[in-house]
Amino acid sequence: MKFKVLLTDGIDPEGVALLAADPQLEVDEVPTLPAGELIERIGEYDALVGRSATRVTPELLRAAKRIRVIGRAGVGVDNIAMDTATELGIAIINAPAGNTVAVAELVFGSLLSLLRALPMADRTMHEGEWRRSELLGGELKGRTLGIIGLGRIGSEVARRAAAFEMEVVAYDPYVPETRFQGLRVGRADSLGPLLALSDVVTIHTPLTDETRGMIGKRELDKLKAGAIVLNLARGGIVEEDALAAALRSGRLAGAALDVFSREPLPADDPLRSAPNLFLTPHIGASTIEAQRNVARDVCAAVRETLLGGELSRSINIAAVEGVRWEELKPALRLSERAAAVGRAILATQGNRAVQRVSVRAGAAHLGASEALLAAAAVGVLEGVVEGDRLNVINARTLAAQRGIELSSLESAPGTADDVVEIRISAGMQEIAVAGTASPTAPVRLTRIGAFHVDVQPRGTLLILTNEDVPGVIGRVGTVLGEARINIAEYHQARLAEGGDALAAVSVDGAVSDEVQAALLQIPGVRTATVVTFNR
Ligand code: NAD
Repeated sequence: MKFKVLLTDGIDPEGVALLAADPQLEVDEVPTLPAGELIERIGEYDALVGRSATRVTPELLRAAKRIRVIGRAGVGVDNIAMDTATELGIAIINAPAGNTVAVAELVFGSLLSLLRALPMADRTMHEGEWRRSELLGGELKGRTLGIIGLGRIGSEVARRAAAFEMEVVAYDPYVPETRFQGLRVGRADSLGPLLALSDVVTIHTPLTDETRGMIGKRELDKLKAGAIVLNLARGGIVEEDALAAALRSGRLAGAALDVFSREPLPADDPLRSAPNLFLTPHIGASTIEAQRNVARDVCAAVRETLLGGELSRSINIAAVEGVRWEELKPALRLSERAAAVGRAILATQGNRAVQRVSVRAGAAHLGASEALLAAAAVGVLEGVVEGDRLNVINARTLAAQRGIELSSLESAPGTADDVVEIRISAGMQEIAVAGTASPTAPVRLTRIGAFHVDVQPRGTLLILTNEDVPGVIGRVGTVLGEARINIAEYHQARLAEGGDALAAVSVDGAVSDEVQAALLQIPGVRTATVVTFNR
């Protein structure tokens, strides 16, 4: 069966071609559709790729019964109902890097336009005038550029500013000192000193609670007289009324805005008549190269997600700090499978309603506890919640909706680096299942409750508890053999001679209810839990 992808909003042909070339995908390309029409059509698609024109509302997402992934060719996802997508387990992928250069170059285009009054020079020339004497400009060389937000775009702006021989200082409390050093940029510890030092201030932060209104009257007053302010990041970071007032009073020499708190900017907005304000209609990323880059980038990521279940590019996945996804995959698998084993054992004992899930991980998985917890929630909910869209994106939300408490615990001193332990409680019972995960070796379960085991959680895992009496292993082998079930690994563990014993048996293929019943008939066998790993 082919996956169906709907492409809309004029995605660059290179992105379309990339998807269309894949024999497993069927691609439909349509212009931006009215909301009602899109809702009617969306149900037949597995993926949607668009730009900002298509609004991905909660209604649209609920109608998109098959959708697994939505790609946004660009950065901003303000047009996507992120919470609903997360709840439904729909991966949202954007392309944050492809338009970095386009924005960085426009910063200098805008700045030079202001410094040399290019719009006026051009306009008056076309009007038949020659106003050379009024067009005395200024140079970039030697001026101090203050960059707020030293991320992708801020860094590219810093590199280009160096070529113009500007002095560069930046404020970004969230990036390490090494980035400032690598770019040869002075570090401002807070906004105040940056504002006081700069001849030109350019903003390259996201719009967050912290950055909304970050540059208001108070901040503009701290700038040198004759300074220039640029916002090509997001509308709302600079207070527009305060900026217009500072331009009108002549305190600022100029400003450039590409983004606005209301877009499109209303025709009668006071900004349109503010002096020395260079305005562009959100065209920072509007270059042929940037559109091609983001389309290629997002389409490739959407294809990986559809065909390979690759979720690492989704921006609505649990946060993973400082851990590379490729390296984390075995630990996620372990977390999910250990949780599935724990849940199944508790269910065998009559405790189906899971109340709490916690994760303890060794040093190798530091910073990944949220993602491990999400994977454990998948293991606990697999087969319990409806639908095939259960994944690390929505598992935490779904678990919380069912009243399951999720927590990560500090690992005990002496815990090996590669260990992940999942602890699950249901009813009056609690069980811990632990294992080891590293990028170089297969995932193994090393402990189930009090028993030390050593078995790969793959195919079907059979967990038997029995009295430690002779003959059980042979009889289990006979029952499985008669049912033509091949044993891959058989690990027998006991706490003390003649006490309780546990067998972890990894088998190929399924174990039917009849076989399970036959195992329970073996003298000494108390419980037989079957866990099938489907994913
Ligand atoms: P990025 O995530 O790479 O960088 C953002 C930087 O801002 C980060 O280094 C972060 O640490 C820093 N930051 C966050 N909060 C801060 C705060 N309170 N004070 C100081 N620094 C803070 O993002 P990017 O790709 O460089 O994009 C930057 C901005 O440009 C975003 O808002 C993005 O939406 C916008 N953008 C606009 C256009 C356009 O068309 N005009 C195109 C692309 C991106």
